[in-house]
Amino acid sequence: MKLARFVLIGLLLGGCATAPLTNRTQFIMISSEQEMALGATEAQKVVQSSKLSGDKALQARIKRIGERIAAVSGRSDYVWEFNVIQDDTPNAFCLPGGKVFFYTGILKITENDDQIATVMGHEIAHALARHGAERMSMQSASNIGAQVLAAALNVPPEYRDLYAQAYGVTSQVGLILPYSRKFENEADQIGVYLMWKAGYNPAQALKFWENMEKLSSKGQKAPAFLSTHPADSERIKAIRDYIPLLPAQR
Ligand SMILES: [Zn+2]
Repeated sequence: MKLARFVLIGLLLGGCATAPLTNRTQFIMISSEQEMALGATEAQKVVQSSKLSGDKALQARIKRIGERIAAVSGRSDYVWEFNVIQDDTPNAFCLPGGKVFFYTGILKITENDDQIATVMGHEIAHALARHGAERMSMQSASNIGAQVLAAALNVPPEYRDLYAQAYGVTSQVGLILPYSRKFENEADQIGVYLMWKAGYNPAQALKFWENMEKLSSKGQKAPAFLSTHPADSERIKAIRDYIPLLPAQR
């Protein structure tokens, strides 16, 4: 039990962080440096396994919008990079440390720069709020928690892995996985703030998500993005409620 107590104290001291803007307390066990290293490795894999778009004008447009959002993100320590992947799947993501990827598929849905800034702000918000690291920390914490509990309950060692599985623990560690609704709402809030701060029109965030909702209700496929980003009335209402709370001055 001494070990168990040590591990639990370690978990508690391990890492408390605070999400930007919302000031939500987060439990994060990996350092920013580790997280950025993971992001850089993952970015290399993405570049190697994808076809980057040869459309120079489109690349320049995404870079220009991305740099405006990055400029108000407060993270000049990030090594920002904006890539366009030639792929009809509607998708976009930002890896820890500022490596952003837009698929041409999502750019068929966005109607203007403000809507691209909506997606850009949202994805960058996930990285700024360290949602990937937080999710990995929650997974490993529940894993360690299950092991500690199993030890305390005298579960024989050979059954501990099974116990961990029964506890709902998976060993899968991935940076590109669906986020919980809580993370989605937080990324919407931070993302709308970022696009507004960068000079874009936050009303277009509503328009974008309404278009996404129409696409999903028509049964048209936008699976990658919609499976991780459900465009439903709850999300749209939360954004509509948030826009009037933006400060009067940029
Ligand atoms: Zn998201």
